Amino acid sequence: MERTLVLLKPDAIQRGLIGEIVGRFEKKGLKLVGMRMMRLDDVLLKEHYSHLADKPFFPMSLNFMMSSPVIAMCWEGLGAVNAVRILCGTTNAREADAGSIRGDLAMSIQCNVVHASDSVENANIEVKRFFKKEDLFDYKKSEYLHVYSEDEREK
Ligand code: ADP
Repeated sequence: MERTLVLLKPDAIQRGLIGEIVGRFEKKGLKLVGMRMMRLDDVLLKEHYSHLADKPFFPMSLNFMMSSPVIAMCWEGLGAVNAVRILCGTTNAREADAGSIRGDLAMSIQCNVVHASDSVENANIEVKRFFKKEDLFDYKKSEYLHVYSEDEREK
């Protein structure tokens, strides 16, 4: 099973969308293995968004992400990285598919309510960036009997 990082961005916190968004991941059948509320600082954000460092909107993005606390979550599941990206929808929320989190809940490129790791490689790096090993939990989820087939459960 894969693990992936999701951040509920400041706009999700301010707009009271925490329960709605967490509920979508839960209903999908994903397993929550870590969750923490935190304030992001400049150092962590510059590392997390290093691929955007030369973009004109970069300083604005940093300010936005530090404007209130965020909630970091680690979700686990078979092919979880891709499944979570599909649930989140494309970056520009105005053009994201209806049914996706961004498509249903946001109108902005910047204020797009969630971050989700974009590859298995980045997910491994990002989960470690936001969570200590002891803050991630291994446990059996009884609903797995009905979420996955027998062979899928062993992957
Ligand atoms: P994603 O979050 O979909 O993986 P990126 O990694 O390209 O997308 O961008 C990271 C975040 O930077 C976006 O989620 C969004 O908040 C912000 N961002 C991206 N492009 C723009 C833009 N053109 N203008 C303003 N903010 C942007």
